[in-house]
Amino acid sequence: SGTLTVDELAGKLNKDASELIKKLMFLGVMATKNQDLDDDAVELICSEYDVEVEKEIVFEDTDFDKYLEESKQENLVERPAVVTIMGHVDHGKTTLLDAIRHTKVTEGEAGGITQHIGAYQVENEGKKVTFLDTPGHAAFTSMRSRGAQVTDIAILVVAADDGVMPQTVEAINHAKAAEVPIIIAVNKMDKEGANPDRVMQELTEYELVPEDWGGDTIFVNLSAIKQEGINDLLEMILLVSEVEELKADQTQNAFGTVIEAQLDKGRGSVATLLVQNGTLRVGDSIVVGNTFGRVRAMVNDLGKRVQEAGPSTPVEITGLNDVPQAGDQFLVFSDEKKARQIGEARQQKHIQESRTGQSKVSLDDLFEQI
Ligand code: GDP
Ligand code: MG
Repeated sequence: SGTLTVDELAGKLNKDASELIKKLMFLGVMATKNQDLDDDAVELICSEYDVEVEKEIVFEDTDFDKYLEESKQENLVERPAVVTIMGHVDHGKTTLLDAIRHTKVTEGEAGGITQHIGAYQVENEGKKVTFLDTPGHAAFTSMRSRGAQVTDIAILVVAADDGVMPQTVEAINHAKAAEVPIIIAVNKMDKEGANPDRVMQELTEYELVPEDWGGDTIFVNLSAIKQEGINDLLEMILLVSEVEELKADQTQNAFGTVIEAQLDKGRGSVATLLVQNGTLRVGDSIVVGNTFGRVRAMVNDLGKRVQEAGPSTPVEITGLNDVPQAGDQFLVFSDEKKARQIGEARQQKHIQESRTGQSKVSLDDLFEQI
């Protein structure tokens, strides 16, 4: 697809094939009537006749998969784990996220804590961990349903005084479906009725068996509110990260997922992106979901302006034409024109799909339109 013969192009331009062949010869291209012309040759001839060609990207070519560079083994380096905290309502997810942040973000950086970009990084023993600060696990599931797997490790919070509850089971199912390792955080250990043994007992029904009982699930007892056991949890996260051998290639164009996005009165479209591979830089031409643009400014989780962001780093960016959705994927293109073409094609495809309710356009449909 996408090619034209000399004869076909002549037909489109209302010229004789022989005339085109002469022109081509004059331009240093030897061609016959039935020869396929590449895009450059077509463009060259059209410009000779003052006809402007719009290079079209067919919808099938808008998938990022087609443009992802292959990671070279020798370029792979360790990257921080991306962690999601899940669990039943009121079992302490938000309190735990706050406790981790307060334990690990130093006073000097405290001013930046008010910055909320939907994710943050902490450092423990010189190693970073990225936490997705998404409310509940709704975001986890919406991202999953869009095919974006961003989480490396799930922390399942279970209140020691309440035990396994319906949303605990839901969270287990999500994490298992995503094949993500689960660490159990038995929370509210400070409470009178805390019964961690009962939590362990209940979880064995879901094949989450502690090491002491012959299983391989890590359990950490803690009190988020008293900020006790937080370092133990971080240590276990690092342990699991090492086992998982999480790697990325910093040298590539950035690829990743939208954590959250909104329209800001002053700044326009503002999106928090999680870089999953490669390095994102200010000035990059980027396609994000069904929109595109150039990264105008980047701010990290501490509210500091940064010029670049490597793998597993969350950053807030401005410069997109429109507001993407949480769970959308993004990819940087070295060629600005290409980014625009693919961005526009994805936008059109999206408009068409939402109009017809169709999720895929067949090749035949496409050629009928042309
Ligand atoms: P979420 O719905 O899972 O995000 O739960 P929250 O973090 O909002 O916590 C629900 C309630 O439990 C709040 O009143 C918290 O103060 C309380 N809470 C959270 N962690 C602890 C804890 O370790 N100990 C005690 N006693 N209360 C806690
Ligand atoms: Mg909460």
